[in-house]
Amino acid sequence: MHELAITQSVVDAVVERVDGAKVRSLTLEIGTLSGVVPDSVRFCFDLVTAGTELEGATLVIVEPPGTGDCRTCGLRFTMEDVFPLCPCGSADVKITDGQQLKITSVEVR
Ligand SMILES: [Zn+2]
Repeated sequence: MHELAITQSVVDAVVERVDGAKVRSLTLEIGTLSGVVPDSVRFCFDLVTAGTELEGATLVIVEPPGTGDCRTCGLRFTMEDVFPLCPCGSADVKITDGQQLKITSVEVR
């Protein structure tokens, strides 16, 4: 289950930065094309944060939709899944958003 490893590395990164302060909430951006399942991250979060500065913290997950720029017709469109296909039929698409997994804010007590 790769969400466990991902959640662990996010929590490790936060623990390193807060320098012993208790974390009240953590906001993550998980793009819809990132391949990471937000519900799995939520599930893992409680396990991984037990006994750390993040124990009991609120986890907020924002899910930016995937967007792509078509190199054939120039259209920018919303991507529903990881296979880039422009409405014009071209698969020559540059993915411009939705693949990120990042920490956007950490609120300490
Ligand atoms: Zn196109």
